[in-house]
Amino acid sequence: MNTIAAISTPNAVGGIAMIRVSGDNAIEAASAVFQPVGNIKVTEMRGYTCAYGYITDHGERLDDVVLTVFRAPHSYTGEDTVEITCHGGLYLSKQILALLYRCGCVPAGPGEFTKRAFLNGKLSLSQAEAVMDVIRADGAASLRQANLAKQGKMHERMFTISNHLVEMLSAFAYWLDDAEDMPPELERDTLDNKLQSIQHQLQTMSDNYQNGRILREGIRTVLLGRPNAGKSSVMNWLCGMQRSIVTDIAGTTRDVITEQVKIDEYTLLLSDTAGLRETDNQIESIGISQAYQALDTADLVLYVVDAAVGITPEDQDTLSKCVGCPALVLWNKTDLTDAEPPALDIPVLSISALHADSVAPLSDTLRKIFSNACIPDQPTVMNERQNALILHAIERITESRALLTNGAELDMIYICLEDAAHALREIDGSDVSDDVIDGVFSKFCVGK
Ligand code: GDP
Repeated sequence: MNTIAAISTPNAVGGIAMIRVSGDNAIEAASAVFQPVGNIKVTEMRGYTCAYGYITDHGERLDDVVLTVFRAPHSYTGEDTVEITCHGGLYLSKQILALLYRCGCVPAGPGEFTKRAFLNGKLSLSQAEAVMDVIRADGAASLRQANLAKQGKMHERMFTISNHLVEMLSAFAYWLDDAEDMPPELERDTLDNKLQSIQHQLQTMSDNYQNGRILREGIRTVLLGRPNAGKSSVMNWLCGMQRSIVTDIAGTTRDVITEQVKIDEYTLLLSDTAGLRETDNQIESIGISQAYQALDTADLVLYVVDAAVGITPEDQDTLSKCVGCPALVLWNKTDLTDAEPPALDIPVLSISALHADSVAPLSDTLRKIFSNACIPDQPTVMNERQNALILHAIERITESRALLTNGAELDMIYICLEDAAHALREIDGSDVSDDVIDGVFSKFCVGK
């Protein structure tokens, strides 16, 4: 394995920077650039020890640093690893990195240290993904859950569930190999009960993911409404700054602008869209079609209505398209009119986007809409990749149960269950293609 090096701290000036080196040549490369103070040889340092000294380039001292050695296999990556902690200058840390490249190290790709940890069996794929979740966690609940997954709790749970399937598959294999007697565990009722229990456990994990996603990643929110209703003004009110261009010429917001807005415990991933109206303008109509696309994946629609105009048939028509997605009508411009909002079967909040100063009424309404959003205190699915695999496994188990009910041949059921087991093994990486591995680590930062 070649030796990789990268700056693991952010690409910014700070108190301290850390450069990590991992691979067969890590200790040799470090000893070539580091001059210890005292009678120490880097090549003879034991694992988990550190030394103080200087990084020098052609005899010129660049910095005084602390160097820590980890010996394979007792390191994060499972390989020989060296970490150099230097002063946190950008030029300085890049110079040290360049010296290491001159000594044979190559630049590490995104997440390559963690990828090596996975390939060397130090972490399962779900644990490796959880490393990034720990880094990205922005609250106590998401950090707790990421840590549970990083400690391998999710891996253990998936292992237990997929093992039940594997045991069933072995019984199938035995039976299909011409055994005389049907093993008792393959009696149709017994089989169906077991499959039902597995299906239920997987469904709970997926439901927990969906409920937790809102709190972990934010509520994908689309601002809709007819031109001039006040969408951009609502966006500016929520963002507390002039982000969208506000004018009184209908049709000025032509693309979808996304902002993250923190409202108490919720984060809104807010898309301000083009005003919805019939238009001949090509650019504006692209914006409108993007608005409808955003609606497909939205968790919440904030539908802005100009209170002075009221709810028109056009508004009714758009609101009727928000099927399966909670919507909230923002009855806007109440400073201009006393008109009361009509009774609707979705919540309505009276506001004046130009004069509103508190988001408390909005957060109260969000609490009602997302009352079952919670991050459970147990390991659960952490991302779309894992959830898609769980849903695939559920689908195949459902299919196999239907086949069982219809008295289908056991070998057809076997094929379905084998596919379900494969999907579950892919979650923690025990049965996974290189493309999937590359896809997972491409989302990591360089240096992790
Ligand atoms: P959009 O087309 O839906 O994005 O609407 P804008 O946010 O651009 O607002 C259109 C016009 O209505 C602008 O002149 C705003 O200043 C005005 N406006 C928006 N909200 C309010 C409000 O609460 N009160 C008043 N008086 N004017 C508003």
